Amino acid sequence: MKLYCIGIGPGGAEQMTLRAVRALEQCDCVAGYGLYLDLIEELIEGKTRIQTGMTREVDRCTAARDAAKDGHTVAVVSSGDAGVYGMAGLLFEVCVQDPEIQIEVIPGITAACSGGAVLGAPLTNDFACVSLSDLLTPWEVIEQRLRCAAQGDFCIALYNPASKKRVDHLQRACDILLETLTPETVCGTVRNIGRDGETYTLTTLGALRDMQVDMLTTVFVGNSRTRVINGRMVTPRGYRGV
Ligand code: SAH
Repeated sequence: MKLYCIGIGPGGAEQMTLRAVRALEQCDCVAGYGLYLDLIEELIEGKTRIQTGMTREVDRCTAARDAAKDGHTVAVVSSGDAGVYGMAGLLFEVCVQDPEIQIEVIPGITAACSGGAVLGAPLTNDFACVSLSDLLTPWEVIEQRLRCAAQGDFCIALYNPASKKRVDHLQRACDILLETLTPETVCGTVRNIGRDGETYTLTTLGALRDMQVDMLTTVFVGNSRTRVINGRMVTPRGYRGV
């Protein structure tokens, strides 16, 4: 009994791995958030769709598990990497009583990597990913992690920087980072990575504080060495002689 958990990368088929494409070919049933299924429409034509809303992850994984038990070969797809704020962990939890189901996790390009490539090379040294969503993590914990990342001089990729209900989270996050970092710290935002309408901006931490972003955006905060080189965001690794 096989259940694939597939990271499809940031956008359409172009940024998927060959392994992900091959696994999808094996499946007759695909579970995922509607937007992600639409992004890979041409690869899942004719397959049964298990489609639920954004916040129905448990239902989606349960339905995928049950379809696998009914003899289907099922893929649960997440954008980016399925293990980075994705469904991989939940799938293992939902299948805790079903050791006969073999779960194969197939990695994908996460937004930190695909968005970093759009900006230049912001994450060439130690970096941290922090999600600003407090749906599953208390806000105080998020604040503490932001503080620690800033104190450690990590570059930071901020996932889920805002949503309709959380309009001021980025501002609050910037205020915490500004306790440690200077307002001149180089920052970038990338929206719709790998999708139609991909855009990016380069800015500073001081200005980022007052920017409006949405949930289709990943935000990058540089470390103390990050700079702009020919219009791109770069964190030097420290090589000498350049
Ligand atoms: N599993 C995904 C992350 C899911 S959390 C991954 O590995 O990339 C959802 C957040 O990821 C979004 O709010 C946004 O911050 C980021 N994200 C995912 N795909 C994106 C894309 N194509 N463009 C910009 N940001 C994206």
